[in-house]
Amino acid sequence: MPRFIDRLPKDDNTNGWSALLPKRSPRPALAGERDFDWVVIGAGYAGLAAARRLAELRPDDSIAVLEAGEVGENASGRNSGFAIDLPHTPSTSAASVEQGRRAIRVGRFAIGELERLIERHGISCDWARRGRYHAAVTSQVATDVLTTYAANLRAWGEEFELLSRGELEARLGTSYYHSAIYTPGTSLMNPAALVRGLADSLPAGIELFENSPVVEAEFDGPSPYIRTSSGGLIRFGKLILAVNAFSQSFGVFRDRQVPVLLFASLTRPLTPEQQAKLGTDGNWGITPAHGVAGSTLRLTTDKRLLIRQGFEYSPSLDTNETRRQAARVQHAELLERRFPQLGSLDIEHFWMGWLAVSHNHAPAFGQVSDNVYAAACCNGAGIVRHTAAGMLIAELALGRHGELTDDFLVQGTASYIPPRPLRDIGVQWTLMRERASGRHER
Ligand SMILES: Cc1cc2nc3c(=O)[nH]c(=O)nc-3n(C[C@H](O)[C@H](O)[C@H](O)COP(=O)(O)OP(=O)(O)OC[C@H]3O[C@@H](n4cnc5c(N)ncnc54)[C@H](O)[C@@H]3O)c2cc1C
Repeated sequence: MPRFIDRLPKDDNTNGWSALLPKRSPRPALAGERDFDWVVIGAGYAGLAAARRLAELRPDDSIAVLEAGEVGENASGRNSGFAIDLPHTPSTSAASVEQGRRAIRVGRFAIGELERLIERHGISCDWARRGRYHAAVTSQVATDVLTTYAANLRAWGEEFELLSRGELEARLGTSYYHSAIYTPGTSLMNPAALVRGLADSLPAGIELFENSPVVEAEFDGPSPYIRTSSGGLIRFGKLILAVNAFSQSFGVFRDRQVPVLLFASLTRPLTPEQQAKLGTDGNWGITPAHGVAGSTLRLTTDKRLLIRQGFEYSPSLDTNETRRQAARVQHAELLERRFPQLGSLDIEHFWMGWLAVSHNHAPAFGQVSDNVYAAACCNGAGIVRHTAAGMLIAELALGRHGELTDDFLVQGTASYIPPRPLRDIGVQWTLMRERASGRHER
């Protein structure tokens, strides 16, 4: 029985990161009928890594990558641009410390792979190993989260600095935070430039089709195929689904992950006078110690402030203009609260994007039908995690399951979530509680 894909990604043409880049010509859409050994759906970190790995391991196989929109306009190009090497483990139990250690192996492997590709292909994306400040606004969250995190870092033997309000103010130019833990291994970049670079440097044997939304798919039976709304059809041998939040539209992982909507803004470049009122660190990133209520911030290489705030359950993979405007206004307020010395800050770009989370923070990953494998549910850290997930799902589809896959699946796979409307009640209730507990962390 064919599946009809009920929800497609929509590009609202607002991505601030790609607006800073030169125009890119997309690859042609799929037209006519073709046969491929492999089809990868989705050209984000997961899909691109999967296709590249397949090409490495099976250089003679034909591989197609299908992307609904244009590379770099998806979540992979819309995120906050933190390639994070370390998990934030909320517990110091021996089991979770060991899980963290194995997650670090996966993270470092994926960062190494990204750095290798950036260097080899000269991908210009402002990639810089600047580390990150994991920051708490209130003493309560500092005690609850940062103290545990410091204990984890000690147990893992990881280098870190615990910074007080005054030390943060000297480095970043804001006295808003109670304290933070600085770890040096995170890299910051323009994510749209990175994902474009990864797509444009795919090995020659891979055909990438952009503006080719898959609207129909037959996963099983003697002649599996996919059909696109651009008028193309591919008969394939095996397929890798790498569409993260959109997996549910393909009827995959529906009861394992929920789509979440995030909002982000970039200001205009700060004036030299404004820059002089900031701290000594000229290119930094803050992640929030309170994951749901807190804000992610950056000072970019071209001296813009980025803020990512707002974390919404989004089962319809849609939103409305009222909600967008409310998020945008809040971004300006939250920036001005942190940097009152800069005066009014002009937001030049505002956008939104979807990701997927699971109840147990584990990935949705594995074989989903005879010919189909899927990697989804990034849980918010897909630059690194989904670079690894893409490579590992390709290996799994080729019958390889190594130690790194065991490390990646150390928490198991995404656990069962009851169907709607029970799910809606449960998720909204959890988010309400999280927002209330973190209301001073915004
Ligand atoms: C605002 C925001 C901030 C974030 N910040 C960070 C961060 O700082 N660090 C970090 O690591 N992660 C961050 N994330 C999460 C990160 O962006 C994701 O984890 C990552 O993009 C997942 O990669 P992916 O390839 O699995 O999925 P995606 O990037 O979502 O790619 C999936 C692709 O599938 C395509 N697709 C979907 N349906 C179809 C179809 N029917 N036919 C064809 N193609 C289809 C989509 O167009 C898309 O290109 C953030 C996300 C958002 C939204």
